[in-house]
Amino acid sequence: MITLTEFNVKTNGTTDWINITGETQKAVSASGVREGICVVFIPHTTAAVTINENADPDVPRDVDLALSLISPDRREFRHSEGNSAAHAKTSLVGPSLTLIISGGRLLLGTWQGVWFNEYDGPRVRKVNVRVMGE
Ligand code: ZN
Repeated sequence: MITLTEFNVKTNGTTDWINITGETQKAVSASGVREGICVVFIPHTTAAVTINENADPDVPRDVDLALSLISPDRREFRHSEGNSAAHAKTSLVGPSLTLIISGGRLLLGTWQGVWFNEYDGPRVRKVNVRVMGE
């Protein structure tokens, strides 16, 4: 079985972390796949996806602060759109995840969640979920 699901994420503010674990699991459940692979792909150049703690809301906040320290806005940037810091953060975090499906569920650690990262919002963004398996 191979399925492709697309859903939208509405972000708030320039930077935003949205927990998409539930929507991703919903795509897996709808596919009927019990054992396989799930790929989450973000088709944007100023938004990314990552796995991190889903319990303490200070964790996404702190990771976002760390990324801003690694990639601050710089006067030397030349890209005319003025969002090069967002493009750089997107490259640091990455556009996709590969997840294991076991027993019809995403195999995630107790504290892990799948997070959509906005760096140039607010916008309505797309998330693609490919599920493969049996
Ligand atoms: Zn740009």
